[in-house]
Amino acid sequence: MGHGISCARSSDELEFFRALQSGDMDAVQAALSVDRDLVHRSTPYGRVSPLHIASANGHLELLSMLLDQSVNPDLLNRHKQTPLMLAAMNGKIECVNKLLEAGANILMFDSLNGRTCLHHAAYYGHTDCLKAILSAAQSSPVAHSWGFARYVNLKDDNGATPLHLASRQGRAVSVHILLDNGSIVSSPTGSYGFPGSTPLHLAARGGWVDCVRELLAWGADRLHRDSAGRIPYAIALKRNHGACAALLNPSSAEPLVWPSPLKFISELNTDAKELLEAALMEANLEREKKILRGAKFSCPSPSLSEDGSEDNISEGSEAELCSICFERACTIEVHDCAHQMCAPCTLSLCCHSKPNPSTLCLTSPTCPFCRSTISKLVVAKQKTSDIITDESEKIISPRPSVRRLKSRSRNLSEGGGSSSFKGISSAVGSLSKMGRGSGRIADSADMADKLDHMLCT
Ligand SMILES: [Zn+2]
Ligand SMILES: [Zn+2]
Repeated sequence: MGHGISCARSSDELEFFRALQSGDMDAVQAALSVDRDLVHRSTPYGRVSPLHIASANGHLELLSMLLDQSVNPDLLNRHKQTPLMLAAMNGKIECVNKLLEAGANILMFDSLNGRTCLHHAAYYGHTDCLKAILSAAQSSPVAHSWGFARYVNLKDDNGATPLHLASRQGRAVSVHILLDNGSIVSSPTGSYGFPGSTPLHLAARGGWVDCVRELLAWGADRLHRDSAGRIPYAIALKRNHGACAALLNPSSAEPLVWPSPLKFISELNTDAKELLEAALMEANLEREKKILRGAKFSCPSPSLSEDGSEDNISEGSEAELCSICFERACTIEVHDCAHQMCAPCTLSLCCHSKPNPSTLCLTSPTCPFCRSTISKLVVAKQKTSDIITDESEKIISPRPSVRRLKSRSRNLSEGGGSSSFKGISSAVGSLSKMGRGSGRIADSADMADKLDHMLCT
């Protein structure tokens, strides 16, 4: 990986570089006590500096010691790679953090493919490094001079963005992080992969179902053609990636797409966002199962299985039952009206009537109970059961089968209940005929239909 040390000039130098590579602080200091100048040497052929070696091998202590001696953090090796790039390639998060702290420049391009440290972190799928660099990009001068969005979508010499590389290498978590940070989902490459490939083409080529799933959930277009006129489906088919092909087949059901252009979705707090994202992925997995059953392909699903979400559940209080699906607990509260529903129902509402993911002019959905405009979504506050006093409203008290809230969301607030009962109970009347006892969570398409029905009556 370009940090070899085999061609040092003298045996002393070789010893020094070996000690650096193995992280032997004593030997390094002994060598430096003889010749302080060694910190500024690099190998003659690869131009690998001590800083590169310490960073690539994750030797934080050595790295700190070298930086303390005012070594430039942005030294370049033969391939114009910085120590930060090497640390990001090798997933050495502590060194990445240290280098960023020391002011390492995130906007350097290597000479092999014209890639930044963000490209390298994405390619190798080191998500902690990816996050650290993204966070640095948000606060550094780069953000001000270049703009954060531009940095995230930088193309290498072959026209590949970090998202292309992560998709091609099957780094699903990195794909998610990049999309969440504004990576353009359907950007075409130059010559990387095949000319004009989108991240979806590259994920299809590699047969990475989990990347395909992420990209589709962020609105990747299944009908986008590369320069040879091929849609991702054709590529997956040709390479015998059956499960990918089934999901990419334009005639398969469309997945739910994260409604990121909606104002209140982009302003979600972390907890509400996690809840909704998990609900989205779960709904899509349900849909996927049907597609794959039809296509007779088995598909490696992530551990977000039927009951996977219940791992964190602790015994204790039960949450309000969602009045739309009658299946789940209310976990999301709509503002300003304070009506509550479960995360999947909220999502169905937001993802509903979205004709085309590329059109950004989505109309804001309204609360299904009172039809007021939704200004904000938050994690629902717990209601105490003694709020329910009126006999006629017992209908919405939790049934034994109700799913329980994650303990985290329950702990969020003790702030007491909100005043949503009147609206809900009137809605319950019109809803009670649907959704009950239909097993687990209804398919989100069904739910969208229910909402649609509700909004139109
Ligand atoms: Zn619901
Ligand atoms: Zn409302």
